[in-house]
Amino acid sequence: METLELPSPPKVGMVSLGCPKALVDSERILTKLRSDGYQMSPDYAGADVVLVNTCGFLDSAKEESLSAIGEAIAENGRVIVTGCMGKEAELIRARFPEVLAITGAAQYEDVVGAVHVAAPIPPSAYLNLVPDAGLKLTPRHYSYLKISEGCNHRCAFCIIPSLRGDLVSRRPDAIMREAEKLVAAGTKELLVISQDTSAYGVDLKHAAWPWKGGEVRAHMTDLARELGKLGAWVRLHYVYPYPHVDRVIPLMADGLVLPYLDIPFQHASPKVLKAMKRPANEAKVLERIRGWREICPDIAIRSTFIVGFPGETEEDFAYLLDWLDEAQLDRVGAFRFEPVGGAAANGLPGVVPEEVKEERYARFMEKTAAISAAKLAAKVGRTLDIIIDAVDPEGGATGRSKADAPEIDGEVHLRDAGHLAQGDIVKVIIEDADEHDLFGVPAAR
Ligand code: SF4
Repeated sequence: METLELPSPPKVGMVSLGCPKALVDSERILTKLRSDGYQMSPDYAGADVVLVNTCGFLDSAKEESLSAIGEAIAENGRVIVTGCMGKEAELIRARFPEVLAITGAAQYEDVVGAVHVAAPIPPSAYLNLVPDAGLKLTPRHYSYLKISEGCNHRCAFCIIPSLRGDLVSRRPDAIMREAEKLVAAGTKELLVISQDTSAYGVDLKHAAWPWKGGEVRAHMTDLARELGKLGAWVRLHYVYPYPHVDRVIPLMADGLVLPYLDIPFQHASPKVLKAMKRPANEAKVLERIRGWREICPDIAIRSTFIVGFPGETEEDFAYLLDWLDEAQLDRVGAFRFEPVGGAAANGLPGVVPEEVKEERYARFMEKTAAISAAKLAAKVGRTLDIIIDAVDPEGGATGRSKADAPEIDGEVHLRDAGHLAQGDIVKVIIEDADEHDLFGVPAAR
């Protein structure tokens, strides 16, 4: 009888110092490493890498931590330091330059990522119970890539900061590793999400991390450029028009990032935007949009708006409609303002009556549908790259152009497309358009 040789998983040793909080951190790290397929080693000799979870509360605790690191290096040599002393990385590096990585307290993802780099798991279905790219709820060909959590803004209608706290960005190398795995597992389109993508890395002071022999900074532009090199479509969501966004547009023109920006403007009237406390609220946005289109004529801008925000007058609303005429956004969604429990906007004066809200909403939708229809009609006759989302048994298929994000934007309906498969990216001749969708046929087999 043939026996199956299982690859042996790497073993991790752990030295846990400090208080009960540090102990809980150690348990969490070990739980994650176990679920990733690692084994634990009770001694230095059997470990492929040793984690030292340090305490830095008192000078005596620091000394104890440093001597534990020294012992682990002498006994094993491959050491990763985590915990409270992670804040004093320079001190540790000065004393022990051979330490493989240093991460701070509660940075689980970072320390687990460092273990994966120091002692990679050999690919095996028996060790990796969870696919390399993680368990996904989206189809295989597109994936959401979360780059940060929380938000530093305090928009009056929003309670996300009170639910999720201030901005906490993920390390760029951890994001890149996840993106690489997703692409290797079949993802053709990466959808970059966060609460505020343009603020990515502010909390990390835009520091750089080593990546592929070079480095990648925790900054939207740098991350977008690196993601663009993976060969998948990269789509940026929730971008605020800070000045540095201008630097992403050339990446779009060069084909590294999709020519698509999802900017939740929410309004155009300076008075309403001020009452909303919106970030990057500045008068020159229309000029900037014009500039972006000069650099990248195909850029699709999608946005959402709120109508009937407290204090919105007919004049403010008319300003918004005129602004839309100028901005010529490609995709637009709208919400009627609704108070959310706990939001600052709930106490604002000038509540807009429901019937006025409805009437404005209808005018808004009429305006944006007309703009969208004209923009889509202008695409008839062009040949566009389309990613296939679904193929139907009658020989048709549904896909999206670079201007369409899944779920929120329009679709491209194809005829004579039975030979295509989900995730294919094909050239399509656009034959027709309506207010939201395009219709076409694959250019050639
Ligand atoms: S709406 Fe404002 S406060 Fe809420 S998540 Fe977005 S930027 Fe942050």
